[in-house]
Amino acid sequence: VNTGSKPDISREKSAELYEKAKNYFPGGVNSPVRAFKSVYGTPLFIQKGDGCFVWDADGNQFIDFCASWGPLILGHNNAKVREKVTEVMQNGMSFGAPTALENELAELIIKNNRFVEKIRFTSSGTEAVMSAIRLARGYTGRDKIIKFEGCYHGHTDSLLVKAGSGLVTFGETSSAGVPKSFAQETIVLPLNDTEALKQAFDQFKDQVAAVIIEGIPANNGLLMQDAAYIEFLQGICKENNALLIFDEVITGFRLGFEGAAAHYGVKPDIVTYGKIIGGGLPVGMYGASAEIMGHISPDGGVYQAGTLSGNPVAMAAGIAQLTELLRSGFYKDLNNKTSEFAESIQRFATARNYKIKVFYIGSIFWIAFTDKDKIQTAADIDHNSMEKFKVMHRELLNRGIYLGPSGYEVGFVSAAHTKIELEKAKRAIFDSLDVVFR
Ligand code: PLP
Repeated sequence: VNTGSKPDISREKSAELYEKAKNYFPGGVNSPVRAFKSVYGTPLFIQKGDGCFVWDADGNQFIDFCASWGPLILGHNNAKVREKVTEVMQNGMSFGAPTALENELAELIIKNNRFVEKIRFTSSGTEAVMSAIRLARGYTGRDKIIKFEGCYHGHTDSLLVKAGSGLVTFGETSSAGVPKSFAQETIVLPLNDTEALKQAFDQFKDQVAAVIIEGIPANNGLLMQDAAYIEFLQGICKENNALLIFDEVITGFRLGFEGAAAHYGVKPDIVTYGKIIGGGLPVGMYGASAEIMGHISPDGGVYQAGTLSGNPVAMAAGIAQLTELLRSGFYKDLNNKTSEFAESIQRFATARNYKIKVFYIGSIFWIAFTDKDKIQTAADIDHNSMEKFKVMHRELLNRGIYLGPSGYEVGFVSAAHTKIELEKAKRAIFDSLDVVFR
């Protein structure tokens, strides 16, 4: 093992908590990636977050680029979000009845986003996607869904499907417990491949309810698609009367207030959001034209519900966070900071002949151990390169930088990352890369 000049941080308390957690939760965690299976050491138990920092149970401080996997675009414990949540909590936590707060958050979204006329709040991104798929099926009266290899849409059964072996095949389940018959309704195609799309629509003529794609695929590396491909995708959906679903759970309100749809200039038929709209509390959402959303119960025949949907405390967090994002220059500043950060890491690596490529868009970045200029499909990723990520991850933790514990995950810059911290983070990344390539 290639270890650096820095001693390993103490993880004693985290290790103790992890041993305890293993008695309660499968793998000691409530979501698998948190178990640190693909990086060194015991998972860090986080005690506190503030601004761009988190502290673990052993008192180690880190500059955080995981940002709770994306929701915290203003950083941890943002005062505006905290104050609004605290204020609303004084009136109770949940009523299971409509509140004015739901209207307020909906208005903020619909007034400033061309892509949704009517919306429905859920409690997670998974639920939003699951409901969007049901809506597409109910609306079109068709069953089949096309998804892309390398796109993650949450853990709903019909989307826990991986690519089969041919160009156009039915998918195979990628989780035990998903019936084969469900996977038969999901067609998995490679990204960035117009031919595969044409073949799929030929083969399954008049059977495809929807094509779902991540706004910018960001769950398996950052697989940036060409605008021409996305335009083609929209065109072929229209020709075949299939709906185009943009899953913007990561990219929504991250690339800009109108997400990847505005970035590409396409108009998806249904859009799903999550993460940022909840300001760190559990919220998802799907939306579409009033006509399509008219098919949702109680107006229409597609059933979808939730005990905690539109929860007032979660709505409060969303209202406070989105209000900040609408301030003039918010995204420009954040995105400029990110491009400066990503490009200086790239310059450092290039000058030293280190084979890495820093892909970035908006405030999302992904450090790939590759010499390819473009990585646009899942198959373009060299799985062996993850060994290098593993070394870098450990070196970064030892230098006070927290990245999500997997080389397939992207990093997020938040408004709370100041120039000073980004400069510190860069230095730590440079030193860690020196160890990786030593
Ligand atoms: N869709 C995308 C693009 C995601 O990145 C995620 C989660 O990371 C989901 C859906 C599922 O969201 P959640 O984890 O809130 O269920």
